[in-house]
Amino acid sequence: MIYFDNAATTAPSEAAVRAVCDCMKNTFGNPSSLHTLGIRAQQVMDNARKEIAGALAVPPETVYFTSGATESSNLAIRGAAGTYGRRKKRVITTTVEHSSVKEAFKRLEEEGFEVIRIAPDENGEFVPDDFIDAVDENTCIVSVMLVNNETGAVLPVKEIFSGVKRRNSETITHCDAVQAFMKIPVKPNDIKADLVSVSAHKIYGPKGVGALYVKKGTRLMKQNLGGRQENNMRGGTEAVPLIAGFGAAVSELSGTFAERMEKMENLRRYLLEKIGEIGEIFVNSSENSVPYIVNISLKGIRSEILLHFMEEREIYISSGSACSKGAKSGVLGEFGISPALEDSALRISFSHENTEEQIDEFVDALIAAKNRLRR
Ligand code: PLP
Repeated sequence: MIYFDNAATTAPSEAAVRAVCDCMKNTFGNPSSLHTLGIRAQQVMDNARKEIAGALAVPPETVYFTSGATESSNLAIRGAAGTYGRRKKRVITTTVEHSSVKEAFKRLEEEGFEVIRIAPDENGEFVPDDFIDAVDENTCIVSVMLVNNETGAVLPVKEIFSGVKRRNSETITHCDAVQAFMKIPVKPNDIKADLVSVSAHKIYGPKGVGALYVKKGTRLMKQNLGGRQENNMRGGTEAVPLIAGFGAAVSELSGTFAERMEKMENLRRYLLEKIGEIGEIFVNSSENSVPYIVNISLKGIRSEILLHFMEEREIYISSGSACSKGAKSGVLGEFGISPALEDSALRISFSHENTEEQIDEFVDALIAAKNRLRR
């Protein structure tokens, strides 16, 4: 099997699986219990929190566990709007966000907020001034992703948020850093983010767990109502085994940025060289993309057809965002990709376990597809 769909999800690492199993067997206490078993579960969570906080270079008490980045971003956006949005009715985001952010803003719009959606320019690049100029005294929150999940494009979040803060220091800044975390540096203080969403299953951890960084002093209206868990930010018994797995995944990747990045850059270079030899394959990702995600189109063959052709050869890739279940999200169009190329888009997303031999097999399959399927 060749797995090139790591932006959708990753295979959990041995260390993550071990941590989850170990915790389920040996640390089943409820972290809210006052007895020893509860305290042990609390310690497991504290250790994982420290790992994630360390990776973000923030204090552990600013990291809140959630059920995944979707919940993190819902809490960030709806939570900020709930606290600060009574008079401040303007909210700003991009046209290329993941559905978890997009839908949260849609709901705010239905509730009477003025939503400004900034698109990339004609070159597919975001211009920080477009965001900064849109900020006024009534701007509640600005939310911008760091790495786009369909193309791998890196957005100029630091420039945008620095400008936003200069214009209105009270505007809350949120970053969906799911596709960036543990792949490129994500430091909330550096990028001037008050809120940052991350997820475990994109970094070899378990599904169903994520975190939200909340800068000290930022008040969010609680969304998951219930107990006083997570410092009263999120009700509900914490998923301690998943949190343990999240911590183990982060711990394993910490300190390996440079070598993993080099490997990814080599894989991308190799892939681009090989598909360059086939001809008639368009690369939709720009040069300013992370090497983990390469979006290409073999014009004339629809994505789903090619996807199934690859699947028959046990090569797993994606046509876009896994969450849209094959439906076009429109994000490629926003980046200036033509409808014909969007119809045949394929997303190849690497892990550090992929090899050049796997790319060779994939490229052979692409050539076979071109010869057999091309209209
Ligand atoms: N944000 C981005 C950019 C993503 O790629 C994803 C996952 O597809 C999410 C958010 C949602 O994360 P989760 O599956 O943890 O809810």
